[in-house]
This record gives sequence, structure tokens and C-alpha cells, in this order.
Amino acid sequence: MISARYDVVVVGARPAGAMTAMVLARAGLRVLMVDRCRYGDDTISTHALLRAAVLQLKRWGLLDRVVAAGTPPVLASVFHYGEEQVEVPIKPQAGVDALYAPRRTVLDPILVDAAREAGVETRFGITVTGLHRDDDGRVTGVIGRDASGAPFTAGARITVGADGMGSRVAHLAGAPVERAGTNAASFIYGYWSGLPVDRYELFYRPGVAAGLFPTNDGQACVFAAVPRRDLRSESRGGGVARAYTRLLSRAAPDAFRSATPAPGRLKVFSSRPGFFRRSYGHGWALVGDAGYFKDPITSHGLSDALRDGELLARAIIEAASGNATEEVALASYQRTRDCLSARLLATTDAIASFSWDLDRIPTLLLELSDSMGEEVRLLRDLDPVCLPPAALSG
Ligand SMILES: Cc1cc2nc3c(=O)[nH]c(=O)nc-3n(C[C@H](O)[C@H](O)[C@H](O)COP(=O)(O)OP(=O)(O)OC[C@H]3O[C@@H](n4cnc5c(N)ncnc54)[C@H](O)[C@@H]3O)c2cc1C
Repeated sequence: MISARYDVVVVGARPAGAMTAMVLARAGLRVLMVDRCRYGDDTISTHALLRAAVLQLKRWGLLDRVVAAGTPPVLASVFHYGEEQVEVPIKPQAGVDALYAPRRTVLDPILVDAAREAGVETRFGITVTGLHRDDDGRVTGVIGRDASGAPFTAGARITVGADGMGSRVAHLAGAPVERAGTNAASFIYGYWSGLPVDRYELFYRPGVAAGLFPTNDGQACVFAAVPRRDLRSESRGGGVARAYTRLLSRAAPDAFRSATPAPGRLKVFSSRPGFFRRSYGHGWALVGDAGYFKDPITSHGLSDALRDGELLARAIIEAASGNATEEVALASYQRTRDCLSARLLATTDAIASFSWDLDRIPTLLLELSDSMGEEVRLLRDLDPVCLPPAALSG
């Protein structure tokens, strides 16, 4: 038996976890957020925020911090389908007139700082290894160890797994995968100087894609992507660096000629097919990649994490306020998430298959853009989070 010192313990202190924790704490709940990494650590990810993510940062008063960190405003997306080029300006809509692609060493600390300022107790260097359950099987907190190996426990009425696609919390809670894709891509990315700083550029050719996202310090993050199964053969004879150069020149023969790669190691990521996991149960919930993951080829994971962090926090607040039972509130969270994301997951899976040709890929990207419109409208029209809920415990 452990006592519920917290209303909510959140495992994972990146976009999904920090957003959930911040919204809960701003509503007056007692929240602990833990992560096994260190504050400000980098992670494997490129950086494109789409409209829903920028909207979330703005609604919660955090966009100014991203801008103040020197993240350049992106005013257009340029799509290259072979030799054809289509430029789509970022129309002012829902209070958003530019996109941003902050480094994760910029974005994640901004979110953690905001959570802390809202009152979230935050501990880095904590690895969660188990879940506490009461005699009825309800999850009542987490078990783990700190950086020195000392045991760690925390009791809470609700445990949130925001611990990424390989979620330990999901595994321990027994959260089944309810829907899954079949395709996955592999990525190689690095940083460059001398590239445009005011637009996202995406390049599509049969069997390969590439993209550039202007980020902090005057650099652009540049990725190349291929079907997952092709990474090994592409890297044979010359390794990752040669494969990266070769893939970029296949995807975008002219785009990088006059630019210079910045020093630093290339990052490689082989994805897995996307999925929805069941994302709630007695005393637990999942958010971000832990509950719903899709291939990074459509650069949408951060937007989803910020969106669903708020949706989950609202559900927990709803239950805490006594306006709905926990079961009803959390079921409604998952339903909304799945409704908003089903098409995103399916379209992302189709793009990650690389079985499209240059006639089909624009249609898939339009479908994606349509789905994104739905989530932007939902976020734009949300009422302010209701304050203050009755505390869950006590
Ligand atoms: C190559 C690549 C490129 C991408 N590019 C983009 C992009 O351009 N735009 C975009 O929107 N998305 C992109 N994504 C997706 C995006 O990175 C993820 O969707 C996003 O990071 C999910 O956030 P999260 O908070 O759910 O989880 P994560 O960012 O994965 O954070 C999970 C946290 O949980 C912690 N954790 C895990 N297990 C434990 C444990 N047992 N105990 C304690 N802590 C634990 C980890 O240390 C980590 O800090 C990309 C992903 C990849 C891999």
C-alpha cells in the first residue's frame, strides 16, 4: 500500500507529458512528473511543428518563448513532386500566421519550465520499472529507481504514461494495440547551414523522400527517408554518411548543392508501423507516442502530443470535478483522440509505404492537410479549462 500523495503522476517529461502535467497543475491538481533522462537532453526527432502545435503553444502562452529562443518563423511549405514545385503559403488562421521548428533542446525545456511554473513537481533521472496496484487491481502509482539506483515510489490517483512509443507504462498496464498500420520508414538526418530559413521544403521521388526544416542557430534540419527495409542496402559500401548524401541527391538533386553540412553526427532512426493502443484503464492513462504512434514521415507526432496532452488533462479534470466518472471521461478522451487521428494514421501509413507515385502523393498530402484542419478547429474552439476542480484525493 502506498499513499496517494499526488493526484496524478506523469511518466515522461517531453511534449505529451509536460503538456498534460502543465494543464493539470494550472487547474490546481497536485502533479508529479518524472523522466529517466536529464533536463534539456536531446532526443531523436526532427522539429517541424504544424499548425495545431503552434496553436497549442500560443493558447498556453508559450509561443513567445519559442520565438525568443531565435526559432525562425516559417511562412510557407514548398512541396517538390519530382520536377514539379508547389508552394503553399501559411495562411493566417486560428491565430497562427507562421510555423516553427525548434530544436528539441529548445522546445522540451520550455514545456518542462512551464509545467514547473504551474506547480508540477518534476524529477529527472527517475526510471519507472513497475506500477503499484491496490487489492482491486487499480493502478495507484509507480515504482522505480533514481539515478543512483536508490528505490523510488510515488502514489497517485492516476498514473499517466507519456513515456514514448516503447511505453513501459503501457506494457505494465497491459494496454493492447487496438489498431495498427503495416508500413514504416527509415530516416537519416543532420544539420546544414546556408539553406532557406523561411520555409519547410519537402521532396518526393519514387522510393525516397527528403525534407528541410529551418531551426535554431541559423541551421536547417535535413532528413532523407526510405522504406524501412531499404536502409541496410542503402548503407552498404560507405555507411550512413554516403547513404545520406546519395539519398538527398536522389530526392532533391539540386537543393543542397550550395549548402554546407554542419559538423556533428548524423542521426538514424528506423521506425515501426503506427498504432493506437487502448489508452486508459483503472487508475491509468496513456498520452503521446505511448498511446498513439505514427511514422515520422508526416512530421505530426509533436502536434499530436501537444493536442492530446490537453485532451487527456481535460478528461482528468472533468473526472476530478465530479462532472463525469473517471471511466466516462477517459473513454471520451480516447474516442476524441481516435476520431481526430484515424485518418492521420491511415494516410501516414500510406505515405510510409512508399508505394505511391508522383500522381498519388499530392492527393495523400491533401488528405493529411484535411485531417489537420479538423484538429485545428477543435483546438481553436475549446473553452478555457474549468477551474478549480475538487482535488481527486483527500
Ligand atoms: C526521426 C524522427 C523524426 C521526427 N520528426 C518529427 C517532426 O518533424 N515533427 C513532429 O511533430 N514529430 C516528429 N517526430 C515525432 C516526435 O518526436 C514524437 O511524436 C514526440 O517526441 C512524442 O512525444 P512524447 O512526449 O509522446 O514522447 P517522447 O518524446 O518519446 O518522450 C518520452 C519520454 O519518456 C521517458 N521515458 C521512457 N520510458 C521511461 C521510464 N520507464 N521511466 C521514466 N521515463 C521514461 C523518455 O526518457 C522520454 O524523455 C519525429 C520522430 C522521429 C523518431
